[in-house]
Amino acid sequence: MVAAEFRVCHHCHGDLIRSAVRQGRPIRVSDLDRGLYDHSRCPTCGRPPDPGLTYHTGRKNWLIVPAEWGGGYEAVDRFHCPGCGNLFATYRDHCPLCHRWVSRRRPTGVWARSVHMRHAA
Ligand SMILES: [Zn+2]
Ligand SMILES: [Zn+2]
Repeated sequence: MVAAEFRVCHHCHGDLIRSAVRQGRPIRVSDLDRGLYDHSRCPTCGRPPDPGLTYHTGRKNWLIVPAEWGGGYEAVDRFHCPGCGNLFATYRDHCPLCHRWVSRRRPTGVWARSVHMRHAA
C-alpha cells in the first residue's frame, strides 16, 4: 500500500512540527483535524507551503487516481526522515526540517498530487 503525500501546514501546526523536530517523533495524520492538505494552499489558513517549514507525511487508505489514468497524482520518490518523519525530495541529502543526514537511505515511493495537471490522451 503506497501512501498519498500530504502537507502539514507550518502556520496552523507550527508547534506540532517544532516538537516533532525537537523530539524526533513523527506527526501522525490521525492527530490533525485541519491544516492538512495536498493542494497548493492550506485550506484552513490559505497559506502556500514553504519547503523549509512545511512538514510532509504519508496518508494511507487515501483514494488516489494516477495522472496516467486521468487523475491528479503521480508516483514520486521521497526520503523519509529517520528523525522527525518528514518526507522530502531525493535531491536533498538531509531533512530540510530537522537537518538529519539521510545519505544512502532507500527512497520511499508515495503518490503526490501533480503540479502540472496532465490530461489523458
Ligand atoms: Zn494553515
Ligand atoms: Zn527530519
